[in-house]
Amino acid sequence: MASDDVDVVVVGAGAAGIAAARRLHDAGVRGLLVEARPRLGGRAWTVIDESGYAIDLGCGWLHSADRNPWRDIAMGQGASIDKSLPPWMRPSLEIGFSRAEQDEFGEAMESFFARLERLVRNNADVPAAAALEPGGRWNGLINAVSTYISGAEWDQISARDFDRYRDSGVNWRVIEGLGTVVRDYGADLPLMLDCRVLGIDYRGKRLRIETDKGAIAADQVVVAIPVSLLAKGQLAFTPALPQKIAAAQGLPLGLDDKLFLALDGAEEFDRDVRLFGRTDRAATGAYQFRPLGRPQIEAYFGGKLAADLEANGDGSFFDFAVSELTGLLGNDFSRRVRPIRIHRWGLDPFSLGSYSFALPGSADCRQALAEPVEDRLFFAGEACSVSDFSTAHGAWQTGAAAADQVIAVRSNVSRVPSARV
Ligand SMILES: Cc1cc2nc3c(=O)[nH]c(=O)nc-3n(C[C@H](O)[C@H](O)[C@H](O)COP(=O)(O)OP(=O)(O)OC[C@H]3O[C@@H](n4cnc5c(N)ncnc54)[C@H](O)[C@@H]3O)c2cc1C
Repeated sequence: MASDDVDVVVVGAGAAGIAAARRLHDAGVRGLLVEARPRLGGRAWTVIDESGYAIDLGCGWLHSADRNPWRDIAMGQGASIDKSLPPWMRPSLEIGFSRAEQDEFGEAMESFFARLERLVRNNADVPAAAALEPGGRWNGLINAVSTYISGAEWDQISARDFDRYRDSGVNWRVIEGLGTVVRDYGADLPLMLDCRVLGIDYRGKRLRIETDKGAIAADQVVVAIPVSLLAKGQLAFTPALPQKIAAAQGLPLGLDDKLFLALDGAEEFDRDVRLFGRTDRAATGAYQFRPLGRPQIEAYFGGKLAADLEANGDGSFFDFAVSELTGLLGNDFSRRVRPIRIHRWGLDPFSLGSYSFALPGSADCRQALAEPVEDRLFFAGEACSVSDFSTAHGAWQTGAAAADQVIAVRSNVSRVPSARV
């Protein structure tokens, strides 16, 4: 597509950018999706493993599946939805974690969330760790759960922002991979892959979007890159947008990485059942046995632990997992597992993290991040969502909302041509 033919450029082809570009396309707007990676999907990324299974290195769960737009998109593509219960809604394996202890932990978790809710009602925007019971027996594991949910420990997280998250409690999966669904939803849109946007100059009548493959002119732009890259000023705006960057800096990306392991003799375990490596500390993995019934373990590492493991290379995830698993299941267990795949999202230059949380005092940064500039620069991405942040459906919603704003501006412009410079 010649750059003169473009009305709107969408920067970043993750779930948000693809949702925006799709909606613009369906409304007859001439859009162009520009993506730095050689593939679509961003943090939605399915790869096919050596046994032919589709594994999601990024998002896998259709959270709030009963109202998740990706569910209908997946079904429209003919994908298969698995509705079996997620591991966190089933009892865990009773290895080093008796049923009585699991019940006690469940109650401690519920009390923590109840205190968190009260804190938010009665206080300024404090760290969520203020809701921990001082010296509580389960604080280590409650913190581990925070690293899985938010990619950081509770002391870093805004209680108010966390409390704004809405979850319907329905969690489904796509057998072919959620990353596949997101990728395919964008596949036929006008698109430039392997093309990094370097800056956006909005001084002139048309925007000038500088890329490493030349400049593109457009009327509007939807910026849908990860908030971590905005916070680091990796996209240069001319004139600069200090308030936007400040909002981005209030919303760091937490860190979570998945390691997939092949498991011999998997039938010994129930499907989709979870085992914590340790129950007395935050730095521990959550091991999901037989995800989707497959002969695998999906290991999840978050927060400081994930950062430490990333710094020590791919192999350190496997070594850590084996040390925790053999500690619970005996030394012979090391002969039953083999690493399949890991992706270090913190070191991935086009993510620099996994999903956003808000720093204490920064709960309102999400609205500030999503705010359009001069009706020409629009913003999308999971971090812009006030109630569904950190998810693929939250990303979709912000992309669709940004596209609707663009469409509204453009229809006003075409009715009143003098309204725009
Ligand atoms: C390990 C892990 C597990 C997760 N699990 C779940 C889950 O189970 N369920 C769920 O709903 N969510 C989950 N998530 C979160 C979910 O994947 C993200 O919230 C969502 O995919 C983010 O979409 P996005 O469009 O906002 O950003 P991204 O997917 O990051 O898309 C942004 C795009 O912008 C591109 N880009 C960056 N810089 C530039 C540039 N300068 N020029 C052009 N392009 C650029 C990037 O390459 C990327 O493709 C998980 C994420 C991770 C990492």
